[in-house]
Amino acid sequence: MTMTTSLLTTSYLAAAVLFILSLKGLSHPETARRGNQFGALGMLIAVVAVALHMGILASPTLIGVLAVASIIGALVAARVAMTDMPQLVALLHSFVGAAAVLVGLSNHMAPAVELTGIDKTIHDVETYLGIFIGSLTFTGSVIAWGKLQGVIRSKPLLLPARHLLNLAMLVACVWLGWVYLGQGHDGLQTLLIMTAIAGLIGIHLVMAIGGADMPVVVSMLNSYSGWAASAAGFMLSNDLLIITGALVGSSGAILSYIMCRAMNRSFVSVILGGFGADEGAAPAAGSVAITGDLVPTSAEEVVGLLRAASSVIVVPGYGMAVAQAQHPVKEIVQILRAAGKNVRFAIHPVAGRLPGHMNVLLAEANLPYDIVLEMDEINDDFPKTDVVLVIGANDIVNPSALDDPSSPIAGMPVLYAWESAACIVFKRGKGAGYAGVENPLFFKPKTKMLYGDAKKSVDAILSLLKA
Ligand code: NDP
Repeated sequence: MTMTTSLLTTSYLAAAVLFILSLKGLSHPETARRGNQFGALGMLIAVVAVALHMGILASPTLIGVLAVASIIGALVAARVAMTDMPQLVALLHSFVGAAAVLVGLSNHMAPAVELTGIDKTIHDVETYLGIFIGSLTFTGSVIAWGKLQGVIRSKPLLLPARHLLNLAMLVACVWLGWVYLGQGHDGLQTLLIMTAIAGLIGIHLVMAIGGADMPVVVSMLNSYSGWAASAAGFMLSNDLLIITGALVGSSGAILSYIMCRAMNRSFVSVILGGFGADEGAAPAAGSVAITGDLVPTSAEEVVGLLRAASSVIVVPGYGMAVAQAQHPVKEIVQILRAAGKNVRFAIHPVAGRLPGHMNVLLAEANLPYDIVLEMDEINDDFPKTDVVLVIGANDIVNPSALDDPSSPIAGMPVLYAWESAACIVFKRGKGAGYAGVENPLFFKPKTKMLYGDAKKSVDAILSLLKA
C-alpha cells in the first residue's frame, strides 16, 4: 500500500499543526498533558505517512525495530525518576545527533537523487552541515548525560588556550568542507575526519561547562538536536522533518535564552563555558566573609511559627524533588489555608534540575495553580511574609548572588527569602547547592535550619499540625 503525494502532504501538514499545538499545550501545566498527546499523535501520523509513502509499512524490519524501540521507550519513560529527567533528555538528544550523522553518511554513500551543478553543491552543503551539527550534538549530549548522571565530574575542564582550540577545530571543519565540496562522491574520508573533529568540539564545549550552567547546556543541546534534524530534513527533502527540526531548534534556543536571563548570564559566555572555574577547586565562598551561626530548629518550633503566621511562602528546590516531599507539603498547605492563612509557592525559573521541575511536582500533588507563583510575581512580597519554608533549595535563595560580585553566581536573580520575618531551611546537612557556593542566608539571624531529609521533616510537621 502506498500513498498519494497529496495525502502525504496533508498528513505532513496535520502532523506539523499537531506539533505546534503540542508546544502551545506544553506552555502551561494545566494543558501540558494534552500537549504531550498532540505531539505523540503528530509523531504517529508522521511515521505512518512516511512508511506508507515509502511502501515499507509492512516491512518486518521496520515493524520489529519500531516494536523494540517502543517497548524500550515506554519502559524508560515509566521508570525514570523526575530528578533523572535531564539525563534522559540529554541522552535522547544524543540519539537525534547520532541519527543525523548516520542519515548524512548514508546519504553521501547512496544519494536518494543524483543531482548536478549548483543543486548538488547545495545538497552537499546540507549533508556536511547536518553531519557536523549531528556529531557535535551527539558527543556534547553524551558528555552532558555523564555530567548530570555524575559519571563525569561536573566541574568545568579548562584546557589552556581552549577558545583557540575550538576556533582551530572550527576552521579545520570549514576548510574540510571546502575540500569535500571539490571531492563529491570521493569525499567519504573527509566527511569522517570532519565527523571526528566535530565530535571533539562537542566533547570540549560541554566539558568546559560546569555547575549552575548545566540547565542551559541541556536546552542548548535540545536546540542543536532540532537543527540537526532539520538538516537531515533538507538532506532527505522531507518537509516535515525540516519543520519539526526548526520547531525544536527554535524552541530550544528560546528556552536557552529565557534560562540565561533567569541566571543573568550571557548565552555566549555559557556556550564558551568555564563558569565558576576560575575561583579554584574549593567550593567558592566569594570575597564577602560570612558571619553568624547555623541555628538548628525543630519540627515543634516550626509548627509554632506556622500556627502564629498569617502569611507563608514555600520555596521548593531540588531537595524537595529528591525527597519526594510534595504530597505532605500539599497537606500542610491545605491545613494552613483552611485556617485562613495566605500560603503561596515561589518558583524560581531554574529551581530543581530542569525547567518547570517544581511546577511538575506541585501539579502532581494537585496543588491549585493560582497559589504557585513565578519569581517575578512574588519576590516583592517576602518582606510582608511571616514565615518562609525553603524546602531543599539552596542556590536559588542565595543572597550572595546579589551582594557579592565575586560570587560564582553573582547577578543570578534569586528569591528574597531572607527578607521575611522568619526563614526555615529544610536540608540534610551543611552541603552546598548545585553551584557549589556557600549560602549566607543560612547564617542570617532570622534563619533557622531544620536538618534532616525533607520528606521526614515535612511529615513530622504534618503530624504535629494534625494533632
Ligand atoms: P540546589 O542544588 O542549589 O540545592 C538543593 C539543596 O537541597 C541542597 O543544598 C541539599 O542540601 C538539599 N537536599 C538535597 N537532598 C535533600 C533531601 N533529601 N532532603 C532535604 N534537603 C535535601 O537546588 P536549587 O533548586 O536551589 O537550585 C537549582 C540549582 O540547580 C541551580 O544552581 C540551577 O542552576 C541548577 N540546575 C538547574 C536546572 C534547571 O533547569 N532547573 C538544571 C541543572 C542544574 P543537603 O545536601 O545539605 O541536604
